[in-house]
Amino acid sequence: MENICELKALIFDIQSFSTHDGPGIRTNVFFKGCPLQCLWCANPEGQKFVPELFYTKMKCVGCMRCAKACPYEAVTAYSDPADIEKYGYVRHDRSKCNQCQTHDCVRACFQNALSVTGEWMTVNDVMKKIRRDSSVYRNKGGITVSGGDPLVYPEFVTELLKQCHEEGINTALESELCVPAKSLKAIMPHVDLYLTDLKIFNEQKHIEATGYGNSLILENLRMLGHNCPEKVCLRVPVIPGFTDSYENIDSIGAFCEENQFSKVNILPYHKLGATKHERLGGEYLMPDVQEPDDGKMRRIAEIIESYGVECIIN
Ligand code: SF4
Ligand code: SF4
Repeated sequence: MENICELKALIFDIQSFSTHDGPGIRTNVFFKGCPLQCLWCANPEGQKFVPELFYTKMKCVGCMRCAKACPYEAVTAYSDPADIEKYGYVRHDRSKCNQCQTHDCVRACFQNALSVTGEWMTVNDVMKKIRRDSSVYRNKGGITVSGGDPLVYPEFVTELLKQCHEEGINTALESELCVPAKSLKAIMPHVDLYLTDLKIFNEQKHIEATGYGNSLILENLRMLGHNCPEKVCLRVPVIPGFTDSYENIDSIGAFCEENQFSKVNILPYHKLGATKHERLGGEYLMPDVQEPDDGKMRRIAEIIESYGVECIIN
């Protein structure tokens, strides 16, 4: 194992005073990198395993200082007004930007149209920020590790939560659980609450929507069901056309009953992450999907509750 002091993970955000994702007031640490590539992802900056360039077209004035500063000739100008309207003045060759170590363009931009998301941090770096917030962790407040998926850095995140427990800080793990069982087993003694998604029960449909199968996820959830079902809160994102069929919801309800999971949160689809996909140089692939209405959410909750599970609509 690498020296603990030298362990590093790519973090894209640390949010203090959060009242989401666990009890009390929390510090949320967001890890960058995820095994899944969900089409509807609201945090697309958490998907890739490298620091990425964020480009805000509304701030860009087309001065091209960034192009002059870039040593890799990764910036070109759009000339067609329709392209400028849609994408902004400049286009980035993301295959070059995703390998860039210097990000000279960011310093060259006087309009703050460019920034980098993702910073390599040590466990000590993160613990310093957690300790700074620790005076507000009353009533079971604490730290929530999220992403992306924290378990793509298994040694780092296990050490982080271990240190939190040693200092009496409550811990929550938000993970897709799409990782080898040994990564989950190692961290289990240091987790107070699991917030974990179960999106699609059918494996083929899971692959189509997320790019990856669900067998590891189900296997890890069964292990949690066997060991500590009371610590698990399952989350089901309600994504029209992907996760919201009554057949899928019924299978999830039955899986909860089988594994003694007693709490489920259902989360209605929203488009809040859409502009982030564009700022990262991608495209939002679900522009026409509409948010589910209250009646649909209520019906889904009823199906899950019919399995003796408490279901909260977020
Ligand atoms: S991103 Fe910044 S430096 Fe580049 S063209 Fe736009 S305003 Fe100028
Ligand atoms: S991130 Fe690096 S490669 Fe991309 S435009 Fe900026 S300096 Fe060039």
